[in-house]
Amino acid sequence: MHTLTAGLDQLREQTRLLCAGFPDAYWRETDRNRRYPQEFVDTLTEAGLLSALIPTEYGGLGLGLTEASVIMEEINKSGGHSAACHAQMYTMGALLRHGNAAQKNEYLPQIAAGSLRLQAFSITEDKAGSDTTSIETAAVRDGDDFIITGHKSWTSRIEESDLLFVLARTSEKPEGKGTDKTHGLTLFLVDLRQVRTEQPETLEVVKVRTMFNYATNQIHYHGMRVPASAVIGEVGKGFRYVIDGWNAERILLASEAIGDGYWFTTRGVEYANSREVFGRKIGSNQGVQFPITDAYMKVRAADMMRYEAARLFDAGEPCGAEANMAKHLASEASWAAANACLDTHGGYGFVDEYDVERKFRETRMFQVAPVNNNMIKSFVATKVLGLPRSY
Ligand SMILES: Cc1cc2nc3c(=O)[nH]c(=O)nc-3n(C[C@H](O)[C@H](O)[C@H](O)COP(=O)(O)OP(=O)(O)OC[C@H]3O[C@@H](n4cnc5c(N)ncnc54)[C@H](O)[C@@H]3O)c2cc1C
Repeated sequence: MHTLTAGLDQLREQTRLLCAGFPDAYWRETDRNRRYPQEFVDTLTEAGLLSALIPTEYGGLGLGLTEASVIMEEINKSGGHSAACHAQMYTMGALLRHGNAAQKNEYLPQIAAGSLRLQAFSITEDKAGSDTTSIETAAVRDGDDFIITGHKSWTSRIEESDLLFVLARTSEKPEGKGTDKTHGLTLFLVDLRQVRTEQPETLEVVKVRTMFNYATNQIHYHGMRVPASAVIGEVGKGFRYVIDGWNAERILLASEAIGDGYWFTTRGVEYANSREVFGRKIGSNQGVQFPITDAYMKVRAADMMRYEAARLFDAGEPCGAEANMAKHLASEASWAAANACLDTHGGYGFVDEYDVERKFRETRMFQVAPVNNNMIKSFVATKVLGLPRSY
């Protein structure tokens, strides 16, 4: 079991020590002001932790997804919110696996050194929603360039990133039975520094305020010109590269939810062991004990599925089923833990100084994004159990 290996324990300890410099009050302040936790991301970057997945030949730590997932878990377990930096981990696969030598040589050493950030990906659109193959943002060839025009309803951390992945349509969506609907979408790795200095009018960023501190935006691309050298892999096959990264994304987000789950159960237990009502600790009431215990068991079970998914991923074996199940189980477990913790705190659960309501809002997202749990159930039903497709 990975948790028992010395390397992982060391990594956990290192992450914990860094996170200790960012106590609850820090996250409360950034949440209140919807401020990007820049100092925290800088600290992790300087320590090299955000380059965990970059091979050592490019200056990264050359670690596996198991290790990366432990870093994400520890951030959330400490009371922090890894959404500020997780995309640097899970978008990396598209560049590592499908980028060409020139792209890797240009970007990876700088990302590993912390002088460049790859934190943003622009895929989801209003009309298409979960049906990504129906996106309409278009990239039209013009000499040595592509011109990107369209609207994305969600693109997080674009203002905090130097590089951006954009998925755009380069040919019509194939229609009819038996056609490959994923064809015709191309993935671009856009250098935002060039866009910001030479053609700022082509990129319109509209901040979106959400129920928790998440640096997310709507984007309008007004004919943004990108060189053909920005294409990742082959034109028309971008959706495949995006799917390729989904397992990593699901495993990492599962780890974050698991970190939250442990935070909620620990805080719930601490409070239940200290608060006295009716002349006894509230934790001595089974009505208080059982929901925390129930949630803890769910978190532990999800944790095991996360390790299994990460182990398969790192071994290069198929892990779609495990990665999806890990994300589903972890998001449901952290939500159970969140509710148990809130109930245990009674009225104080709603007071921001206790941080429960903040983490409660943060952890709710895992059931919905980046993929909602219904889609995961559909995946497991059809791909794992062999039931008919419903859509
Ligand atoms: C905070 C936040 C940050 C985000 N950041 C990014 C980002 O950086 N880049 C990016 O590209 N996207 C981002 N997203 C978008 C996210 O990936 C989408 O919200 C998600 O893919 C779901 O799409 P949708 O919101 O359009 O939901 P819809 O597709 O409209 O679905 C709505 C609901 O309907 C249900 N549903 C839909 N279809 C089915 C079906 N066939 N069977 C059963 N149920 C179904 C689901 O349960 C779902 O909850 C972000 C979202 C959030 C909340």
